[in-house]
Amino acid sequence: MRIGIDLGGTKIEGIALDGVGRELARQRVPTPQGSYAGTVEAVAALVHAIESTTGLEGTVGVGIPGALSRVTGLVKNANSTCLIGRPLLSDLQATMGRPVRLANDANCFALSEAVDGAGQGGRVVFGVILGTGVGGGIVVDGQVLEGPNAIAGEWGHNPLPLPDRNDLPLRPCYCGRAGCVETYLSGPALEGEGGTLSETAMARYEERLARALGGVINVLDPDVIVLGGGVSNVDRLYSNVPRLWRPHVFSDHVATVLERPVHGDSSGVRGAAWLWGGPPIGPEAKA
Ligand SMILES: [Zn+2]
Repeated sequence: MRIGIDLGGTKIEGIALDGVGRELARQRVPTPQGSYAGTVEAVAALVHAIESTTGLEGTVGVGIPGALSRVTGLVKNANSTCLIGRPLLSDLQATMGRPVRLANDANCFALSEAVDGAGQGGRVVFGVILGTGVGGGIVVDGQVLEGPNAIAGEWGHNPLPLPDRNDLPLRPCYCGRAGCVETYLSGPALEGEGGTLSETAMARYEERLARALGGVINVLDPDVIVLGGGVSNVDRLYSNVPRLWRPHVFSDHVATVLERPVHGDSSGVRGAAWLWGGPPIGPEAKA
């Protein structure tokens, strides 16, 4: 059994999956506000509750809104502030008395969709979060690509390519830079274009998303790009953006496909479970 935990700012959700991805249990509790120790305890209690419900022991994977620094082993880049600078992995392992795998929540989203979601069958999957912020994760052959800085896939703080008149002046970002992709493509940025989302606002958003993803395709050349986060519910993106990214991709034909998420809001928690390995994927799964 694989247990996945999605540690969010307001709730902690837990899921138990069997070896082929069937859901055996799912529970959620509110995140203890402002209490790091309380958060660690709540995760451990949730794992215990799921194991009591199922009568099975499971591996434990945890998705967090941040990453573990490869230098210090401490949480960085988290918007759940009580986690920042804490040795979350070692504390979870000590509290539960077992090995735990920890990953960024965007990486968990990408992994979930790559293993048995919209990216299934693709060797290289780029999972994109278009929500309160803009993030992303990369999965290659069923494995999260983390990188020496633990930031692989974090395209939200790259500059928006080729800014045009409508993009200026470059928007200031909380990270200290200006013109970051996130300042144009987050959910709040889209809403800021106009309350009712006019045709002009949507067209502008699609064109910016296409420009930004075109750059990702040139570097990563993914088989599948899966959108997640609130903006992924906008249907027209899936037909318009691949048409608009063509001139930005250095190729005669663009084989990369843009997909809706299959698991929706469950992708984070499912991907956390698959940090310990999912069902076989790729050619051997079809054999
Ligand atoms: Zn930024």
